[in-house]
Amino acid sequence: MPIETNFIFSANSFQDYLDCPRRFELKYLLKQNWPAEESEPVLEFEHNAELGNRFHRMVHQYLNGVPQEILLASIQDAALHEWFANFHAFYSSRKFVQIFSEFSLRAVINQSPLVAVCDLIALTADGNLWILDWKTSAKKTRRENLNDRIQSILYPFIALECADRIFPDIRLQAENIHMAYLFVQHPADNLLTFDYSPDSHQQNRAFLTATIGEILSKEPGTFECTAEARRCRFCVYRSLCERGITAGNLAELEDASDLQDTLSNLDFDAQEEIAF
Ligand code: SF4
Repeated sequence: MPIETNFIFSANSFQDYLDCPRRFELKYLLKQNWPAEESEPVLEFEHNAELGNRFHRMVHQYLNGVPQEILLASIQDAALHEWFANFHAFYSSRKFVQIFSEFSLRAVINQSPLVAVCDLIALTADGNLWILDWKTSAKKTRRENLNDRIQSILYPFIALECADRIFPDIRLQAENIHMAYLFVQHPADNLLTFDYSPDSHQQNRAFLTATIGEILSKEPGTFECTAEARRCRFCVYRSLCERGITAGNLAELEDASDLQDTLSNLDFDAQEEIAF
């Protein structure tokens, strides 16, 4: 089955393709159901996923005007209180003049639509645009791994492409865009920032254009399985691909920060839609 002409490329779908072309084919072209758990132990995995989801909802509500006291009074979980406190210490230290929470940015490359769903985009008085992403994993992802993630390429690219539409009164340049990840389980040294530049924008455009072209030119059945078998341990399709039956362990995953975003249920930042 070929890719649909109105297919919208997102961080999730790009990352799936880059991690494993076969996973992209199974998930987006063949729309294959998930036959296996992503990670063991399942209950702990589901608990972490639920906590991360609730945290994102809490922050979204807070940024939309729900008082902090009301939000915190409704939450019994100590971890969520702590994460929110860490988020709040960061957020209140910044002086943003305009914010958009859970905001979808859209752009087009060679007629292919792209979307980035941002946890927060925020403008400062001196005309800098911050794209902020809440990370709820226990371990901080290494800078070099985050730098390679498609989110760090796609989000600033789309932000610059559509900046004029979001902020028609100011002229944002590439240098004014900053992509940052806040690791909310950590009280200090918890922000990883990537600055942007005209060169990065050109390189990102070339990379995204080439990747989309490669995906669109593939015939069904030619999407190859990843050579990195460790990725299969956390992939729901491993039984279909005959890449093992047993799921990888969450503890193992914490030590492999480049794999953390491969779990769709834990990767809230790359989810296209969360029903708020
Ligand atoms: S099990 Fe491995 S080869 Fe199969 S789709 Fe998943 S990552 Fe790719």
